[in-house]
Amino acid sequence: MRIVSDLDGGNVLVHSTRDVIRLGIRSDTGAPEFRQWFHFGLEGVAGVPVRIELDVSDTTYPGAWEDYDVCTSYDLETWFRTPASFDGEVLAWEFVSEQPSVFFAYFAPYGLDRHAELLETARRSSLATVRTLGESVEERSIDVVRIGRGERIAWVIARQHPGETMAEWYAEGLVGRLLDEDDDAARAVREACTVYVVPNMNPDGSALGNQRANAAGMNLNRAWLEPDREASPEVLAVRAAMEETGVDLFLDVHGDEQNPWCFLAGCEGNPSYDERLRDLENLFEQALLEGNDDFQDDYGYPRDEPGGGDLRTAGNWVGERFQCLSFTVEMPFKDAANHPDPEYGFDPDRARRLGSATVEAILAALPGLRD
Ligand SMILES: [Zn+2]
Repeated sequence: MRIVSDLDGGNVLVHSTRDVIRLGIRSDTGAPEFRQWFHFGLEGVAGVPVRIELDVSDTTYPGAWEDYDVCTSYDLETWFRTPASFDGEVLAWEFVSEQPSVFFAYFAPYGLDRHAELLETARRSSLATVRTLGESVEERSIDVVRIGRGERIAWVIARQHPGETMAEWYAEGLVGRLLDEDDDAARAVREACTVYVVPNMNPDGSALGNQRANAAGMNLNRAWLEPDREASPEVLAVRAAMEETGVDLFLDVHGDEQNPWCFLAGCEGNPSYDERLRDLENLFEQALLEGNDDFQDDYGYPRDEPGGGDLRTAGNWVGERFQCLSFTVEMPFKDAANHPDPEYGFDPDRARRLGSATVEAILAALPGLRD
């Protein structure tokens, strides 16, 4: 039996492999306060019962492991869940592999290969262009897909927190729908809007197997007020591009470690928040409720007090700077509790469907997007 850790986005520490496989999680690069993402494989285990005990005692979100089942795959394509138990320190699961190799991850990984394929799909379409906005700390490309020719400007960014891979699955669903030549709603959005999608804001953290930080140890979603050339060039590049285009609608797509829900967080804490933005938020939210089974608006983050929004975050900063409709989109690592699926849990396909349903939500908000 061999533990495979040299994977794209791999993260595991091997403590012991006698009888029980005891593992731990490496903290994010340059950010010891973040430790959550794991991804590894086991080789040479066909038919052999194994028990895995993952030490999660000092992870960033201890509440993440209650009611969490482990994402499991034989081929890194199809991911199903393996039931796990949590005793307050250790996440434990037992498994008998049907194949020589099996892979486990916190959520279905979205690798750099698949990212390249997503860009290639967009490049081949006559409806999209792809370009590089700048470079990450480790000089990886920050890519943007531009779709449509309309006057209204929408920006959608995903994976500021690299371990929140569901965000890039969501981006794939959104881009795929927008590139569908036969889809009426997609055509209407392409005619009225120009949509910029950044599928991966943090390619370094993704490759390194980080949960929240980039290669410089920075939480990019606290860097929007004062992005820095050394510590947060990813935000600097995207912010500069937004200043050139303007923004009428912004989505910053994330995964939530603890909450078993899909939900939106708006800009009610921003100084310039007003009735127009509140009405737009409601229109957008209502369209998602109608168009997607997983999405709900009963549960989410506590609402910010007026003026209490954290302008270091993308959602609040962009909303305030451009006086525009601006949301943080959250999806669960756990299953969605309003729509449970014990076999697969919340998975790439469901994240893609939420991304795809966003097309109708953009349409619903369209008439009021600009003052
Ligand atoms: Zn996040």
